[in-house]
Amino acid sequence: MARKCEEGRAVGIDLGTTYSCVAVWQEQHSRVEIIHNDQGNRTTPSCVAFTEDQRFIGDAAKNQAAANSQNTVFDAKRLIGRKFSDPIVLDDALLWPFKVTAGVNDKPIITVNYKGQEKQLCAEEVSSMVLTKMREIAEAYLESPVKNAVVTVPAYFSDSQRKATIDAGSIAGLNVMRVMNEPTAAAVAYGLEKRADCVGERNIFVFDLGGGTFDVSILTIKDNIFQVKATAGNTHLGGEDFDNRMVNYFAQEFKRKNKLDISASSKALRRLRTACERAKRILSFLVVATIEVDSLFQGIDFSSSINRAKFEELNLDLLNDCIKTVESCIMDAKMDKSTIDDFVLVGGSSRIPKVQQLLQDFFNGKELCKSINPDEAVAYGAAVQAALLSKDVKNVPNLVLQDVTPLSIGRSIIGDVMSVVIPRNTCIPVKKTREYFTVEDNQSSSLIKVYEGERTKASDNNLLGSFRLSGFPPAPRGSPSSDVCFAIGENGILTVSATNSSSGNSNEITITNYKERLSSEEINKLIKEAENFHIEDQRFLRKAKAVNALDDYIYKMGNALKKKDIDVKLSSQEIEKIESAIAVATNLLDEKNQQVEIDVLEDYLKGIESRMEQIIAKTN
Ligand code: ADP
Ligand code: MG
Repeated sequence: MARKCEEGRAVGIDLGTTYSCVAVWQEQHSRVEIIHNDQGNRTTPSCVAFTEDQRFIGDAAKNQAAANSQNTVFDAKRLIGRKFSDPIVLDDALLWPFKVTAGVNDKPIITVNYKGQEKQLCAEEVSSMVLTKMREIAEAYLESPVKNAVVTVPAYFSDSQRKATIDAGSIAGLNVMRVMNEPTAAAVAYGLEKRADCVGERNIFVFDLGGGTFDVSILTIKDNIFQVKATAGNTHLGGEDFDNRMVNYFAQEFKRKNKLDISASSKALRRLRTACERAKRILSFLVVATIEVDSLFQGIDFSSSINRAKFEELNLDLLNDCIKTVESCIMDAKMDKSTIDDFVLVGGSSRIPKVQQLLQDFFNGKELCKSINPDEAVAYGAAVQAALLSKDVKNVPNLVLQDVTPLSIGRSIIGDVMSVVIPRNTCIPVKKTREYFTVEDNQSSSLIKVYEGERTKASDNNLLGSFRLSGFPPAPRGSPSSDVCFAIGENGILTVSATNSSSGNSNEITITNYKERLSSEEINKLIKEAENFHIEDQRFLRKAKAVNALDDYIYKMGNALKKKDIDVKLSSQEIEKIESAIAVATNLLDEKNQQVEIDVLEDYLKGIESRMEQIIAKTN
């Protein structure tokens, strides 16, 4: 996985829930470059859309979402590496306008309508489309192919979510050199590992408020080793909630002014939401922002304004919740807030001045690291890491990244109770053994069911696997049944083994999560599909160009005909030729002739261009 890059430039990609960002280390300038997309934006919506005749990725997909919500897929990061029956997925699925169902092995499957047919996609495939877009953005800028990338994931991502992200990279034709924790990437962006003003260990607090998620993490760096000490957050809190509050506020204003309720019109709401997001971004720099939406509802234009104070008031409870989460993360890490050395702001929503103020107040006025744009810091750090992993970059300290268990791990005991052996946020590698006792007289065996999760009822957690230990000699209830050892290796793989001390019998299980991973056959199949999508996209573009070019030429010929009345330079034969060419071309472009091959259009245009050139030149 952590292969050194052999050719091409290695990029860093922040594959976000709502927005993604790509960056590259520019050796000649010794700095990171955040790469603009084709719309001139430095971040690209993590959104893919399907229509009757084409596929869109990024801004183009987001821009058409209002009119095509069922086939516009976003939030793939919430699905990746999860099962459909995961309560988080079930809850999200109720709110998404696109269809998600359970597929083979309980894998979530998204169904969209593409070119008049149902198309089924898994989350890896959708993410791979976003990654492909990010790769293309980088390739256009670097003017060379990009094969290697460091891709970031939230610190709490489980093993299967990380592996699924690597699979998404493979489908996009990328070698994922490393999956890097987002907070670590942000800390690397600030070069915090190189700061010499702190003896021994350095504690870093990373505050990431994005589009739909809020994550805080506490990292420590010692001798260039990053360790995630604790993570906390809210999976449904972010910029979109702030947008929603503003949408409700303006919808009420519209109602007051016009006695009309726009809340039933998803299109009006969507257009208002776009305007609100824009206004929200402006409020991070200015104290007042205006909102203008032409023909918002029933032909009525809407224009209004909002100031920063009102925006803060609308969202104050959400912002205060953020600070409560910060507090609980610090408690989780058993630290005192005064021991934090650096505060790193990440995520587009941490640009909001009130967010920064509340955080700074909480940390008693300490300075926050915010000189790098918060929505670019993660991609920035990933680009640094990508350069470090590339063999041509020298004299840079190699960072070793250490992880923690994102969730508690344990087994079920009598009464379906979860007995936690490795608590969450334990640094890995780790090995812990616990002794269990029989619950019945003469019990001869015990079923060991391994779970991950924070619920006290074991079966509410995620079952990772199970095995039976048998051959206990007869003994009264309460005798030792087994010593169960939970071990997680460097690579994050969990092995659970159990031994019965009186018989010496033992058994074990290795949890690899392979069930949820795509097989190499499946990946190859998806790569083929991705190529097909690409070919179809290219075809669509070529056809659109051919149609436009022919349409232009019809216009040009039409102009030539108009001029013939002013100064007659054309013979009646020539006029006839033009008229018939216009008729044929118009017919080719007719809606009814959608199926006309691109070659036919291109050839016809070439043909008439050469036949008409001299005739048209006469009228110029
Ligand atoms: P993700 O959550 O996908 O990682 P980002 O970190 O890029 O994405 O955050 C995206 C969110 O940040 C969006 O809700 C966007 O509206 C918000 N945002 C971007 N720029 C600003 C800004 N200047 N002020 C306030 N919010 C912003
Ligand atoms: Mg992010």
